[in-house]
Amino acid sequence: MKKLYVKTYGCQMNVYDSARMAELMAPQGYEAVSSPSDADLVLLNTCHIREKAAEKLFSDLGRLMPHKARKAETGGGMIVAVTGCVAQAAGAEILKRVKGVDIVVGPQSYHRLPALVDGAARGERLVDTEFPPESKFDHLPKPGAQNVSAFLSVQEGCDKFCSFCVVPYTRGAEFSRPVSSVLDEARRLVDEGAREINLLGQNVNAYHGAAPSSGAWGHGAGPDSGEWSLGHLIRELAKIPNLLRLRYTTSHPKDMDADLIAAHGDTEKLMPFLHLPVQSGSDRVLKEMNRGHTADDYRHSIEQLRKARPDIAFSSDFIVGFPGETEADFAASLGLVRDIDFVQFYAFKYSPRPGTPAASRDDQVQEEIKNERLARLQDLLVTQQHRFNRSFVGRKVPVLFEKLGRHEGQLIGRSPWIQPVHAAASPELLGRVAMLSITGIERNSLAGFLVDHPGEHAA
Ligand code: SAM
Ligand code: SF4
Repeated sequence: MKKLYVKTYGCQMNVYDSARMAELMAPQGYEAVSSPSDADLVLLNTCHIREKAAEKLFSDLGRLMPHKARKAETGGGMIVAVTGCVAQAAGAEILKRVKGVDIVVGPQSYHRLPALVDGAARGERLVDTEFPPESKFDHLPKPGAQNVSAFLSVQEGCDKFCSFCVVPYTRGAEFSRPVSSVLDEARRLVDEGAREINLLGQNVNAYHGAAPSSGAWGHGAGPDSGEWSLGHLIRELAKIPNLLRLRYTTSHPKDMDADLIAAHGDTEKLMPFLHLPVQSGSDRVLKEMNRGHTADDYRHSIEQLRKARPDIAFSSDFIVGFPGETEADFAASLGLVRDIDFVQFYAFKYSPRPGTPAASRDDQVQEEIKNERLARLQDLLVTQQHRFNRSFVGRKVPVLFEKLGRHEGQLIGRSPWIQPVHAAASPELLGRVAMLSITGIERNSLAGFLVDHPGEHAA
């Protein structure tokens, strides 16, 4: 067997893509290893969303090159491929900057990796950053479930062009996979042991996949039966026996339509936790970000979701220090956070991305101000998160066990609100939901003990 080392940077879409690339290379005789030092093929699956994420690639390449040189001295070879969004954005520049890189391939063409690796083995240096007419999903091996909780990519790309974001440039135009291909993949994942499916997409709630051709799908009738919305897809997925839980990420507030909100009320397998990035609480900043909604529109969606599913909890992304952000704009963000009460968050300092409209503005916010605002926002959000987690002590919570814990006899699972929970439990409970009584909190996880026999079908 040849050795394959894969490093994944960034989002869950990249985690999904990395798994597909490893599967793609397995029939070529590549087996995954956990260290790059002796690998025959190294894939660095990159993220371009913020400057720091992109820079990490070049420092990792710097560390990798001595290993490649050492292998060459002993007559061996190491093919180095840069994949993902930095590959798409920087293309041939990467080959120029780092002589030891052999392949640069973008997120829409990585199904061509085996052919590119063959070329590199013959000494070629190759760049493939096309948006090919064929869909990579038709050319990838069928994914197998290795985990109780599996990812399933249903939508890619973005047409929204938020003024700070590179995704529309690196991932290309929005594309939804056809319903039948999603359902097939979901059924296979469940057959192979997955009990939870996380539907993925850069804008997953903009999903509009082609309906299956057969008319036997129940919800498909009516004027819009040519395409299914995400709500419709979720209801169909929820019918799969032995699939216990469904989640989806990441959503855009503008695409949070009434049907999807209703699905939170009528589909019990859809978990009561939603990551819904808002970025800012200031209408002026939201407009300049080209987000297409106001802070009150966001509050209204949250209110509707809480009506549909009273126990739902929210997480969000925030950007501080967007160009021109004033103290009053930032105070509006803090105000929105207080109003909503989030249970999880990702807060970022604005990072100018080359080629995006906001990057060329001349009213960039000073770094010290960004740091100070980030700290204030994080303080507030951490307080909310801890309050939420503390409220579980003494409560009973259904936990889907996903993996063995660090300590002997321990399993780790997740609550419906995605909190990791650990407890003493037998490995037979992996992939099953059991009722736990929560005894304490540790940083961001909960600890508990089993109080009930596991139910195969309870969520
Ligand atoms: N499509 C999702 C949405 O619109 O809500 C977000 C996907 S984006 C890959 C993930 C997050 O990265 C965004 O929600 C945003 O908070 C953050 N982000 C994107 N561009 C950024 C930038 N230039 N600087 C800082 N954060 C950024
Ligand atoms: Fe980026 Fe905006 Fe598209 Fe999200 S909606 S991926 S933030 S451009």
